[in-house]
Amino acid sequence: MIEVKELRFAYTRRRDVIHGLSFAVGPGEVFGFLGPSGAGKSTLQKILSGILRAYRGSVRVLGTEVKHRTSAFYERIGMAFELPNLYGKFTALENLRLFGSLYARPGSEPLTLLERVGLAQDAHKAVGSFSKGMKLRLAFVRALLHQPALLFLDEPTGGLDPGHARIIKDMVLEQKRAGATILLTTHNMHAAEELCDRVAFIVDGRIRGLDTPHALRVSKGGIEVAYTFREGGQAGAASAMLSALHLDAEFMRRLHQGALTSIRSKEPTLEDVFIELTGRGLQ
Ligand code: ADP
Repeated sequence: MIEVKELRFAYTRRRDVIHGLSFAVGPGEVFGFLGPSGAGKSTLQKILSGILRAYRGSVRVLGTEVKHRTSAFYERIGMAFELPNLYGKFTALENLRLFGSLYARPGSEPLTLLERVGLAQDAHKAVGSFSKGMKLRLAFVRALLHQPALLFLDEPTGGLDPGHARIIKDMVLEQKRAGATILLTTHNMHAAEELCDRVAFIVDGRIRGLDTPHALRVSKGGIEVAYTFREGGQAGAASAMLSALHLDAEFMRRLHQGALTSIRSKEPTLEDVFIELTGRGLQ
């Protein structure tokens, strides 16, 4: 679906903000760019979606070198970027109908989409009066209108309350199940972990790690297991490395005696690994 080779990009002549990135995204994959503000995530999405075309290197999306895209390209992709370009004087429904009419093939029913994201009762209100969260939800369903094969989502759950974030995450996973390929940006490790098949850690326009969230989390050092037990009427706690648990005589004895009262593995979070690999936090 996407093949990027040695991609470089500068907004001004003096300073590259994307420094020689190479990666590929397969069909049906949810691929996330995880990184702090200013890392280059939005710039990358704007390049991949054909908005910024003065790049160097190669970016093939749906078989097209994206700087040579034609308008037909947009029949197959959907975009929901952070500052959605919606018409403030039009109602939510009018916005969706207008955008829907730009596509050749008939799309999803706008009212059904509005209902899904909790905007049915606001369907006839001018979008100019919407809160930022409402605009984000509207921009999200606008991106789904024509059932695109490839979806670009910029911070899809950013700024949303947990209930609405849950709905958007469920809808992203639904799109994946329906066969869509999805690229999203986030600085939220939980969103990355829950939604993405693979994640690229991005800092200062460079990829500093790329794998499944689980592989990234277990890549650094071993996993520690912490457990509590009760022995001779006394409560105790201990820990051991998961890889050597079977060699830990105390642990094995307590296990066989049925003395364990709790056990949990202390895997590093995605942010722990991000900090270790990049020297930077996600905020
Ligand atoms: P992120 O999406 O990860 O927050 P961006 O892609 O927005 O990062 O920004 C990457 C870098 O490009 C930053 O240094 C930012 O200041 C710079 N940048 C972003 N947009 C522009 C622009 N329109 N003109 C000049 N520099 C920009």
